[in-house]
Amino acid sequence: MNCPVCRKAMVVLELNQVEIDYCVACGGIWLDAGELELLLGNSGAKDDVLKSFTPDTGTKERKIRCPICSKKMIKVICGKENKVLIDRCPNNDGLWFDEGELYQIVKMGGLGENDKVTEMLKDMLGAHLFTDEHRRVRR
Ligand SMILES: [Zn+2]
Ligand SMILES: [Zn+2]
Repeated sequence: MNCPVCRKAMVVLELNQVEIDYCVACGGIWLDAGELELLLGNSGAKDDVLKSFTPDTGTKERKIRCPICSKKMIKVICGKENKVLIDRCPNNDGLWFDEGELYQIVKMGGLGENDKVTEMLKDMLGAHLFTDEHRRVRR
């Protein structure tokens, strides 16, 4: 499967027995339908987070296409306080998270800093933070 943002081939990683597709180039993550629920497991705030998902029709953020069915994905706002804008396939194939977004959402979902999932996502994030910082300085 290719990354819907930069079109590069994604790698499959296992995150606490859930297979995720990860783009090494941009740090984005694709989750098939139902995988976010699996990642959040039995965490306390899971239902609150999942229920907070609201389609955002007014956003100016560029629409990207689903890597499975190629339909334009819907922007969805997650969370009540620290809002994160993710992309959802209109056919419910899955969800796309730009770099760092899944990390923010699992934390919102009640997974602590020391949870296996949170730690792995943080490590993946760290690999890209440096290059982001670097770009910001050069701009
Ligand atoms: Zn990418
Ligand atoms: Zn789709």
